[in-house]
Amino acid sequence: MDFSAIKEAILDILYPQDIVCILCQKRHRDIDDKGLCPVCAKTLPYIKPPICQKCGKTVKEDTGICLECIYAQYHFERAVPVFEYTSDMQQLIHRFKYQGVYYLSRTLGYWMAEAYKQRCNWEVDVIVPVPLHPRRERERGFNQSALLAGEVGRSIGVQVDCRILKRRKHTSTQVVLNKHQRRQNLWDAFEVIDPDKVRGRVILLIDDVFTTGSTVDECSRVLMHAGAKRVYVLTLAAGRLDRKQHKSG
Ligand SMILES: [Zn+2]
Ligand SMILES: [Zn+2]
Repeated sequence: MDFSAIKEAILDILYPQDIVCILCQKRHRDIDDKGLCPVCAKTLPYIKPPICQKCGKTVKEDTGICLECIYAQYHFERAVPVFEYTSDMQQLIHRFKYQGVYYLSRTLGYWMAEAYKQRCNWEVDVIVPVPLHPRRERERGFNQSALLAGEVGRSIGVQVDCRILKRRKHTSTQVVLNKHQRRQNLWDAFEVIDPDKVRGRVILLIDDVFTTGSTVDECSRVLMHAGAKRVYVLTLAAGRLDRKQHKSG
């Protein structure tokens, strides 16, 4: 390596010019402190109103509660997802979850905490992340929801308790299942370890993605059954990626 190459290499370290945007994955000079390029920073896929007052997803007309929620009779009080589950968002969450890019929890948790501060006047007592089965957590090395919960808790000043709820069933992946199959798959999957920590308390449940709502609803059901006063849900994203969108990337 000649001197100019060494100089280039040092300059690259001092002034990296090819940092990748965490969302669009394109190289860019002006990446902000959240890891976003200027384009993505301006076009984050926030869920836009009108939204359903129960599940927080976008609805066509502002009618209060969406049809799905009228039928579902969820056990939680209200859910607030921050972003649409776009293909970029899906890939970002995927890198966070499956490729161990756990530093992303700072940015993802920041967005969730900001949404909470702006949109939720809930007065919660404790934050509970949706648990992974211990085996899956060992394989992955961390629980993505617990990392997000930690960031949110720090930011809004509420204690996070990972020892309230436990996943006792190693459920198969839910991605390919429909709503009914998800329900069956989740039957008996969660257990409240310490009902004393739940009784009479308002709980903020945290998960990464709200798809059909089955997972957070089943957690809410066991928490309410154990005596929780109310359960609110905060997730990073909501929606289901349709296949077309997925294929076109
Ligand atoms: Zn970008
Ligand atoms: Zn709804």
